[in-house]
Amino acid sequence: MPLDRDPWSRKICVYRAHGPADGHFMRDLLVSSGIPVEMRGELLSSLQGAIPLADSWPSLWVVPHNEARARSIIDSMDTAPSGAGWACGCGETNASSFGSCWACGRDRPGLGQGEDPADAA
Ligand SMILES: [Zn+2]
Repeated sequence: MPLDRDPWSRKICVYRAHGPADGHFMRDLLVSSGIPVEMRGELLSSLQGAIPLADSWPSLWVVPHNEARARSIIDSMDTAPSGAGWACGCGETNASSFGSCWACGRDRPGLGQGEDPADAA
């Protein structure tokens, strides 16, 4: 098959993750929305020190006809209208729309009733 017949040969980078867990989360989100995603750069994290850190984080690539949809999904996660995300006790930051931490699954502090704040200490 000629290379230019391969749709993946013209994919577009739609997201650069803030870390490996972030990359996996966003990839899963897009895939569950029906958008095939290729994650690049994951293996490079083992090369940290040889390359700038940001370049060692995963990036997500989609075919051109999925770009707009992928970006809208990513934007809706990245920039919540209300602005402020919330910080989990594990140190990760979550979008304000999340009810639980994407990294560790802990419930959002103060969201439910009877949440024990001492748990975060
Ligand atoms: Zn967490």
